[in-house]
Amino acid sequence: MSVKNAMDRLQLPKPISAGIILSYKCSSTCKHCMYACSPRWSGDWPTEKNIELVLRQLASSIKPSPYGREKVSLNHGLHFTGGEPFLNFKLLLNAVKTADELRIPSTFAETNCFWCVNDEQAREKLTALKQAGLKGMLISVNPFILEQVPFERTERAINISKEIFDGNTMIYQETYYHRFKSIRIRNTLTLDKYLEKDRWALRYSELLPMGRACYRLRHLFVKYPAKAFFDESCISELTRNWHIHVDNYFNYMPGYCGGISLGDARDLDALTQGVDLQDKPVLRMLVESIGNLYEFAAREFNYREKEEGYISKCHLCIDIRRHMVQQTDEYKELRPRELYFNLE
Ligand code: SF4
Ligand code: SF4
Repeated sequence: MSVKNAMDRLQLPKPISAGIILSYKCSSTCKHCMYACSPRWSGDWPTEKNIELVLRQLASSIKPSPYGREKVSLNHGLHFTGGEPFLNFKLLLNAVKTADELRIPSTFAETNCFWCVNDEQAREKLTALKQAGLKGMLISVNPFILEQVPFERTERAINISKEIFDGNTMIYQETYYHRFKSIRIRNTLTLDKYLEKDRWALRYSELLPMGRACYRLRHLFVKYPAKAFFDESCISELTRNWHIHVDNYFNYMPGYCGGISLGDARDLDALTQGVDLQDKPVLRMLVESIGNLYEFAAREFNYREKEEGYISKCHLCIDIRRHMVQQTDEYKELRPRELYFNLE
């Protein structure tokens, strides 16, 4: 679809893979978190009925892993995430049952493993999820989680998940898992201490310059002036059909763009008939160019360029959006508002 045709209406394809954010509340406050999650967030867990409403909307378009509906892969199927979904295990379990009843393929749950304090508890919870119909697990491993979750818990979750879900245990990122094992990490470790032990580690891994990383990890990136990003349009990110997210407030979020809502996921049919951009000016400007958003924010909200520069177009984008949200709640595409107050 051309940018010109998209000015008033954004055509969205039906999503082929999705994540359900059960809550932004998390046991950790990772420096790289794209959704600015932390223990400070209000819980605001959705009701089981509302989860069912969203799952029903997604059920017909979600595609299975290329290896089959009983298998999992990162960008296929449907996953339950957060925040930390194991903070409300009962809700997670019931959501998995509902997804199974709706025959949604390739389901998995993502966790930081904080809850994995002993083998018995880990086996009990993972077995219950498997019996409820969950197909696999995604275990997060990286130096940011390591600051708050002892590595023994991560190893336990991986070992027991492999026992229960067999080949359907994904480790993200596997590089870190092997590096942590090879330097015999125990307990937690601050990022600085980890980088003292393994100084090139970040070069060999994926670190998306979005969300909280723009503030807490900017020292690790090269910076650019705002104008370096002015010509960029986000039409492809905003309209991608894979790995979209729906949060506990029913915001339909494109990909990894935390804090941007395309509309209410409970009415996916209406959304996929086109998102009206005439009453969502920030979205429209992101489709046109980041330069347009910058000019608008400078003119209407007195936004000023950061002297130290920006690590990515997403840094410029979220910094402008945060500046606006701190002054007004009039933009319904900038949701949930709480995200913008939890970035640092
Ligand atoms: S990255 Fe994951 S574990 Fe870390 S704060 Fe975000 S949701 Fe929680
Ligand atoms: S610049 Fe903004 S809208 Fe575009 S991909 Fe990044 S976060 Fe999403």
